[in-house]
Amino acid sequence: MIKKIGLLTSGGDSPGMNACIRAVVRTALYNKIKVIGFTRGYEGLIDNNFIEMKRESVSGIIQRGGTILKTARSERFKTKEGIFKAAGTVKKHNLDGIVIIGGDGSFKGAIELSKLIKIPIMGCAGTIDNDLVGTDFTIGYDTAINTVVEAIDKIRDTAESHDRVFVIEVMGRDAGLIALRSAIASGAEALLVPEMKHDMDSLIAKIKKWRSSKSSKIIVVAEGDESGGAYKVAEIVKKHCPEFDMRVSILGHIQRGGNPTCMERVNASMVGFNAVKALMAGHKNEMVGIVNKQITYTPFEKAVKHIQKLNKDLEELIEVLSS
Ligand code: ATP
Repeated sequence: MIKKIGLLTSGGDSPGMNACIRAVVRTALYNKIKVIGFTRGYEGLIDNNFIEMKRESVSGIIQRGGTILKTARSERFKTKEGIFKAAGTVKKHNLDGIVIIGGDGSFKGAIELSKLIKIPIMGCAGTIDNDLVGTDFTIGYDTAINTVVEAIDKIRDTAESHDRVFVIEVMGRDAGLIALRSAIASGAEALLVPEMKHDMDSLIAKIKKWRSSKSSKIIVVAEGDESGGAYKVAEIVKKHCPEFDMRVSILGHIQRGGNPTCMERVNASMVGFNAVKALMAGHKNEMVGIVNKQITYTPFEKAVKHIQKLNKDLEELIEVLSS
C-alpha cells in the first residue's frame, strides 16, 4: 500500500519539471497518497528540507519553466555521509516510495540510494539533453530546441542583413541532440556535434565554397564537440577564410528557461501521472518514459548506461539539406 511518497527535482532544471511535479502531486492526492516535496534535490533529502504538497501547492505552475521545488547538483550526496543522511530522512518520514525528476546523474544517485532503502523509486526523465535511453523525449528537450530555433531565427535576421557567418554554440556537453534538431529546423549550413565524425579541413573546404554566394551562413556547434566550441571554430575559420565577416553567439542558459511547449506539458504530465501509478502497481527503480507514444519503464541501470545515439535519418537529412 502506497500512502506517502517523497518527490524531488535534481540536476539541471528543465522546462516541464513543474508540469511533472503537478501531475505527481495531483495523481497522488487523487489516490489519497500524501506527498512530501524535498527542496533543492538531494540536498533537501540530506538536510530534511521539505514542503508538504497540497493541491494548491501546484496551482498555476503548469506553464512555468524551472522547478518550484528548486534543484541542485549535490556533491554531498556523492559522499558516504551525505547519502546515509539522505537515507535517514527517507526512513524518518516513513515514505512508501519516491519520485525523482532529473537526468542521468540523478538516476545514478537513485541507484546508490536504492541500495540503502527498501522502498521503490521511480524516475521521470527531466533534462534538456534528451540523452537517456527509454524515452523518445526527455522533459525539457522540446522546449529547449524550440528556444534554440527561435534564437537562431533572430540571429539569422541580422546575419542576413550583413552577409555574416555566425557560429552558434548550443548546450550539449556529451550529446549533440539539441544541436542536430535545431540545426535542421533553422536551416543551418553546417553542424558540429560530438557524435558525427568531421574534421576541420572538410568544414573549411565547405566554407570556401560559400565565397561565391553572398548571404548569411549559420554554423551550429554543440558545446561538447571536439572542435573546442564556437570561439575556437570561429578562430580557425577566420584564419583560413579571412574575407568572411564572422560572429560568435553562445546561447547559454536561455536554453534552460521559458514556458514549456504544449507537447512538453502534456508529456511531462503523462510521465508524472504514470510514475505514481507505477508505484501503486508495484514498479521499482525504473524510469518512466514515452516510446512511440506508449508509456514504458526502463530500469535505472539501463536508462543511464547508454547515451542515445543520433537518429541516422536526421544525420543524413542535415548532410543533404545543408550541402
Ligand atoms: P542534467 O542532465 O540536467 O545535467 P543530471 O541529473 O544528469 O541532470 P547531475 O548533476 O549529473 O545532473 O546529477 C544530479 C545529482 O545526482 C548530482 O549532483 C549528485 O548529487 C547525484 N549523482 C550523480 N551521479 C551520482 C553517482 N554516481 N552517485 C551518487 N550520486 C550521483
